[in-house]
Amino acid sequence: MITTDICIVGAGPVGLFSVFEAGLLKMRCHLVDALPQVGGQLSEIYPHKPIYDIPGFPSVNAQELVDNLMEQIAPFHPTMTLGERVETIERQEDQSFIVGTNEGTTIACKVIVIAGGLGCFEPRKPAIERLEEFEHGKGVAYMVKNPELFRDKEIVLAGGGDSALDWTIYLSNISKRVTLVHRGETFRGAPDSAEKVFNLAKEGKIDLILKANLKKIDGNGSLKAVFYEDADKNEQTIKADYLIPLFGLSPKLGPIADWELEIEKAQIKVDTTDYSTNVLGIYAIGDINTYPGKLKLILCGFHEGAIMMQSAFKHVFPDKHLSFKYTTVNGVHEF
Ligand SMILES: Cc1cc2nc3c(=O)[nH]c(=O)nc-3n(C[C@H](O)[C@H](O)[C@H](O)COP(=O)(O)OP(=O)(O)OC[C@H]3O[C@@H](n4cnc5c(N)ncnc54)[C@H](O)[C@@H]3O)c2cc1C
Repeated sequence: MITTDICIVGAGPVGLFSVFEAGLLKMRCHLVDALPQVGGQLSEIYPHKPIYDIPGFPSVNAQELVDNLMEQIAPFHPTMTLGERVETIERQEDQSFIVGTNEGTTIACKVIVIAGGLGCFEPRKPAIERLEEFEHGKGVAYMVKNPELFRDKEIVLAGGGDSALDWTIYLSNISKRVTLVHRGETFRGAPDSAEKVFNLAKEGKIDLILKANLKKIDGNGSLKAVFYEDADKNEQTIKADYLIPLFGLSPKLGPIADWELEIEKAQIKVDTTDYSTNVLGIYAIGDINTYPGKLKLILCGFHEGAIMMQSAFKHVFPDKHLSFKYTTVNGVHEF
C-alpha cells in the first residue's frame, strides 16, 4: 500500500500544479492518472498547440507547459501511478481514506483531491465481437502503456490518427511484424509521420493495409488472428499476438460518479471558499468542478489548487498553525 498525505486523482495541469502548492506547505502527494502519461488534455489532445492565456507566458506550447510543471514540482518528489483508473474510495475509522485503482493499487491518504478534468478518457472501441475476451493482457490493448510488451510479437494496429502512426513507427523497430489497418487512403495524423509510415511499407518493414475494416478476432485464451474486409469486400486474415485499435479516446466521468459527491451535469459541486465537496476531506479542482461563474481554464484551476491546499492543511496537520508565506520570502524547500 502506498501511503501519502494527499492523493490527487488526475495528473492534468491542475493536479500537477497543486503538488507544488501542497509542497510549499510540506504535504506529500501521490498522483494517479488513467492515462499512461501526465498532462491531461494538454498532452493527450493538443500537445503541440500554443496556449496564450497562461500568466507570464505570451505563448507556451501545451506539452512545454506540462514539462515546466513537472520541473516545478520536482523538488517535492511526488509519487505517481500512471495508466490506472481510480475506482474506489473507502473512508477509514480515523477519517482517512483508502483509494483503490482498477489494477488493485491502494493508496492510504488523509485528503483526496479530485482533479479529474473531463473524467477518464475511455478508448473508442471497434464494433467487433469478442473484444472483451482478449482485453487485460490477452491480446487486445487500447493504449500502449509499456512498449516492451510488444517486443518480438506480431502486432496489428488499426486507426488513422497520430497515435496509430506514431506507434506503428515505434513498434516497427521492436516487434516481429507490424501491420497497420486503416479504413481510409490518407491519414489524419501529422503528414511527416504519415510519410514515414508509407516509406516503412515501401521498404517492406511493415504491412500497410488501406481501405480496410476490422471484422472479427479469433483465439483461444489468447489472441491468434485478426480478420478484416479489404477494399474489394473480401475477408482476409492476419496472424496476430496483439490487436491495438487506436480510434481515439472520449472522456467519461466514470467511477467518480459513484463516490457520493454532489454532481451537477457531470461535474462536482464545490464550495468556492476552499473548493471542498460535500464529503469532508475530498476536494475537487480544475475542469471537474462546478460553481457559479466557473471558467474551464487552466489558470482558474491553478488558483483553485492554491486555495484548496490551505484548507487541506487542516486535515493533514490538525495540530499545526498555518502561516501564509510568499515564495520570495520563504523560498522552495525540497523534501
Ligand atoms: C483543444 C483544446 C484547447 C484548449 N485551449 C485552452 C487554452 O488556450 N487555455 C486554457 O486555459 N485552457 C484551454 N483548454 C482547456 C484546458 O485544457 C483545461 O482547462 C485543462 O486541461 C483542465 O485541466 P485539469 O487538470 O482540470 O483536467 P485534465 O487536463 O482533463 O486532466 C484530468 C486528468 O484526470 C484523469 N482522470 C479522470 N478521472 C480519473 C480517474 N477516475 N482515475 C484516474 N485518472 C482520472 C484523466 O485521465 C486526465 O488525465 C483547452 C482544451 C482543449 C480540449
